[in-house]
Amino acid sequence: MQTAQEILQSVFGYESFRQPQSKIIETVIEGGDALVLMPTGGGKSLCYQIPALARDGCGIVISPLIALMEDQVSAMTQLGVRVNFLNSTQDPAAAQAVEKALLAGKLDLLYIAPERLTQGRCLALLKRADIALFAIDEAHCVSQWGHDFRADYLKLTLLHQHFPNIPRIALTATADARTRAEIIMRLDLSRARQFIAGFDRPNIRYRIALKDNPRTQLLRFLQDGHQQHAGIIYCMSRKKTEEIARWLQDQEFNALPYHAGLPTATRAHNQMRFLREEAVIIVATIAFGMGIDKPDVRFVAHMDMPKTVESYYQETGRAGRDGEPADAWMIYGLQDVIKLRQMMASSEGSEEHKRAEQHRLNAMLGLCEITTCRREALLNYFGEPQPQPCGNCDTCLEPIDTWDGTDAARKALSAVYRTEQRFGVNHLIDVLRGAENLKVLQFNHHRLPIHGVGRELNNKQWRSVFRQLVGRGYLNVDMEHFGALRLEEKCRPLLRGEEAIMLRRENTAKGARQQTKTALPSDIDITLWEALRDCRRELAEEQGVPPYVIFHDRSLKEMCGALPRNSTQFGQITGVGERKLKKYGEAFLQVIEKHFENTFGSAD
Ligand code: ADP
Ligand code: ZN
Repeated sequence: MQTAQEILQSVFGYESFRQPQSKIIETVIEGGDALVLMPTGGGKSLCYQIPALARDGCGIVISPLIALMEDQVSAMTQLGVRVNFLNSTQDPAAAQAVEKALLAGKLDLLYIAPERLTQGRCLALLKRADIALFAIDEAHCVSQWGHDFRADYLKLTLLHQHFPNIPRIALTATADARTRAEIIMRLDLSRARQFIAGFDRPNIRYRIALKDNPRTQLLRFLQDGHQQHAGIIYCMSRKKTEEIARWLQDQEFNALPYHAGLPTATRAHNQMRFLREEAVIIVATIAFGMGIDKPDVRFVAHMDMPKTVESYYQETGRAGRDGEPADAWMIYGLQDVIKLRQMMASSEGSEEHKRAEQHRLNAMLGLCEITTCRREALLNYFGEPQPQPCGNCDTCLEPIDTWDGTDAARKALSAVYRTEQRFGVNHLIDVLRGAENLKVLQFNHHRLPIHGVGRELNNKQWRSVFRQLVGRGYLNVDMEHFGALRLEEKCRPLLRGEEAIMLRRENTAKGARQQTKTALPSDIDITLWEALRDCRRELAEEQGVPPYVIFHDRSLKEMCGALPRNSTQFGQITGVGERKLKKYGEAFLQVIEKHFENTFGSAD
């Protein structure tokens, strides 16, 4: 039997395990159960793939997403692993062949959809086979409180009943304690060892800026470092995804829309292009993302604010699974808050539910408004305090300017009070700036003592003041009254002059400048890099697989740096296992050889 370390190197071409991987793998190889919590991109798959290879028999992986299953199977096949799947897309003959291979001991790994696994027929099949382990991927699907609940997952306790001696490993990226407890209870995992990895994604750079001119901001963001990159752009509405996608196409970007209202075929086609081609941008509603396992997504951009910090973290987490630098970029404005509150107010659900939603929205807004490290705030939110600022977010890279906003805030709050808490931001700013338009005159607001007391700030500055006051809970937006601002209890001391407030100074230009420069180190020869990418693209097209299934960017980058000249050297590159060495070594070595000839002239 090969050891876990040997398999890691020979099959996967990786040098060493990441933090909790080796302990988890050891536990499962020895026959123990495990519950694994790891952020997206943390490396969960290896935790069951390696034990499945190390133990006798076939590893059974329960996975809810058919598209993902197929991706995993094609990636593992590339590594020379004997792997297949059973799901509803297969015709009976193909399924039969897979079953036969399983019974003949010719499979290392088998992916099965949960609805299939829980059928009596399938259980009977498994009982006749030699099984190494059960891996339950996306284990949070058992949680009835989550968005991804799958009724079939509830039936998975029968694994333990029918196969008490076969180790089970449940995996998820969902953090909270309640979901974890539910997984343990519902999957009968009270004896399992728990492995909880840190939730930080250090390679993701977080940036949040104020909406100023959204399209220009987006364009600047893309042009400055993401010209040739795959990414996801989230928008709040379906209509907007289509508009932004069309507009980006006009700007020569390979952008495609994705939302639940598009015909199924269009959706599938766009998703396929995102996975198979390089540098495709998907402009999507939140309908896109679950089960997208593309490792080289270089950025996730939010054109509107998500509803909760949880969704923000999950969506941004789709960037940089390969561990290479990636950007999480977002722009937001008070209008987002108003729209989200509107949606919440009109949604069904109990008062308690609505209050909880408000609370979570406020936390999200709080993350936008903070003047300290974003990562610190994010990790704190998930109960994982960080000892120091991260150095890889906008506020760390360009510390925020603040100004004493006490006087302005007091004027803003008085304006709300004097107009009887019945008006929205625009009107309040008109009153403060001394406008005498129809609405002001109609309500006699030009007679109020606060009329015209705020001429020292312009319209934009006042919006910023109001937004921050809402963000920090001094004001609330009353959705039943068309977005009127209302005073909250918290504003009393400020109004009475007993408290001061520092506000952040907006500088919309700033946010856009701080780019993670292209993921390429400066000493890389671009011609060689492009040649290696062409080679990868050709191989991928020949086999109908995504380019990253052949090699990740990281491997190509290493080739550019190490310039291997023979197969021993080529085998040292990260991601080059025995199988890929044999299959692709020659093709890539030739590209490198040609590069040498072109650069230094041929020897003869
Ligand atoms: P998750 O399922 O947790 O989101 P994956 O299992 O897809 O993450 O792993 C993310 C990426 O990291 C994959 O490309 C995987 O091959 C790579 N990876 C995992 N473990 C290691 C390791 N020990 N060394 C190098 N790369 C690794
Ligand atoms: Zn930071």
